[in-house]
Order: sequence, then C-alpha cells, then structure tokens
Amino acid sequence: MRKILSICSLLLVLSCKSQSVFPESDSVKKTLEYLASDELEGRNTGSKGIEKAALYIEEFFKKHKVKPYFKTYRDSFNINNIIGYNIVGFIEGNDPKLKDEFVILGAHYDHIGIVEEVNGDTIANGANDDASGTVAVMEWAKYFSKSKSNKRSLLFTLFSAEEMGLKGSEYLAERLKKRNIDLYTMINFEMIGVPRNSGNKLSYITGYNKSNIAEKLNMYAGESLVGFLPQAQKYKLFKRSDNFPFFNQFKVPAHAISTFDFTNFDYYHHVDDESNKMDFNHMTNFINKMIPAIEGMTNSMSKEIKMNNE
Ligand SMILES: [Zn+2]
Repeated sequence: MRKILSICSLLLVLSCKSQSVFPESDSVKKTLEYLASDELEGRNTGSKGIEKAALYIEEFFKKHKVKPYFKTYRDSFNINNIIGYNIVGFIEGNDPKLKDEFVILGAHYDHIGIVEEVNGDTIANGANDDASGTVAVMEWAKYFSKSKSNKRSLLFTLFSAEEMGLKGSEYLAERLKKRNIDLYTMINFEMIGVPRNSGNKLSYITGYNKSNIAEKLNMYAGESLVGFLPQAQKYKLFKRSDNFPFFNQFKVPAHAISTFDFTNFDYYHHVDDESNKMDFNHMTNFINKMIPAIEGMTNSMSKEIKMNNE
C-alpha cells in the first residue's frame, strides 16, 4: 500500500511538472535558438528572415490560445516602401471593470540583418538584441493564457523596425491612441539574455525617476528585481527603445527593463550576438521572477503606478 501510494505521489509530481504553467528553460532555449538562427538571417525588417520569425510567433500564439488583438496578429505598416508588421497578441482581463484598462508587454523581434563580415560570418543574429526580450514576452503570453490571472487586459506586442528608428512601436502607439484605449502601463524588454555584472538587482529600468514603477514592481514581486543603472540615464535609454512612443502618445508610465549593463556583453550589433552567448538559466529565472510583478500590476484595484511630478 505504501509502495502504491508513493508510486501514485510520484506520478502526481511528474504530471504536475509536465503541466506546470511556469516558463521552463527548454522552451525559452528552443524559441530563442530558432529566432536567432542563421536561417532567419538577422531578421531585418522587410526580409524573408523576419517573415519566418513572424510566422513562428503567430504559430506560438495560436498554439497557446493567445488571441490576435486586431483582425489578425499582424499590425502592418509601410516604411520607405517596405512592409513591416508588429505582432500583437491579446489576453482579456478577467475583471468586468478592470479589463477595460490595458497593460502592454513588448519587445522588438527585428534586428539588423546581414552586416560586414567578421571571421567569415555576416549574419547579425540578434540573440540578446532582442530575441531575448521577444522570448520573454512570448513566454508571458503563454503563461497568462493558461493562468488567466490578469484582471486588466494584456497586450503582447512584438515590434518590427525598431532598428530603423522605433518605427513599428511608433505606428502601433499611434494606432492604439486613435482607438483611445485606456493604457495603464507599458513595459518594453530589451536584452535580458545575460545577467548583470554590476548592481545588486537582477535588472534595471530606464526612466527610473519618471514614475514609481520600479518601487511598485519590487513590492508586487516581494523582492528587489528592478533597479537603477547610471549609464541608462547617461545614454538616455528611456528615449531609445520601443517604450518611448507609448510614453509620447499616452503620457503614462512606459519604460524599458534590461539586464545589459554595458560591461556584460561585447557583441552589441555584432555577428557574434548568438544563442550560444545566452545564459538560459538567467533568462528563465528573470522571466519567472517577473511574473508576480506583472500580476501585481495587472491586478491592483486602483492605478498604483503613477508618473512622478518632475
Ligand atoms: Zn534592441
């Protein structure tokens, strides 16, 4: 009997594990390795490679029952006669009132394509920049699709043409502003593929002093996940990624979170920004630790995250 019981509990544990809703490193690794593979040729906007990336993300959303926010997953725009498309997934909030308020989690899935040869390699794979952030957003979409634990509605936005000057996010921010959505917060994830060398927090947020978002995310997470990086302020990173168009249009807290600290990765916009340089345990850890922070943000009864008066 005892033996039968222990076998039963073992089976229970095994079945629980295989049904875990929490992101696992195998899935993180698999998606990143595909997005940053040579086959996708650096995911330049308008290329065949980025079309493959888009199809992959759409399939992933479909498989995990993440709905398109628009008629299809694609939010298409024209830039210098090149067609770009953001991919937008949607999980409606489970609260009848709060579901009219939106939280956006985003990253850019485009990169810079084929570049100058270094040691026979010409493909800028963009593993850290920004397949890493893209994978994080995809994993959260999968997670919230299963957990259904968000009271506010969530948009999962994968931007194109970031590398052409934030063109995809500019287009989408304007389109959502015209629809007059009630945007609460937007967080963009950039280069989360390797852990920080400096600082005592897992990640940092750009525009740290513009709102109380870091303080609130850390409070919801129950630990210090998001900190300040002096270089982020020095180089004005707040204005240099896909959060900025949302801040411009909506004047709400819209920031970028990253674990790239200018000392921990030598391959920015380089052909060696490849999958084998990524730390999948770090990525999976980061993705999981952000979940309670995101849940706290989507579920607080009032809009606790606010702009600071500067
Ligand atoms: Zn980037």
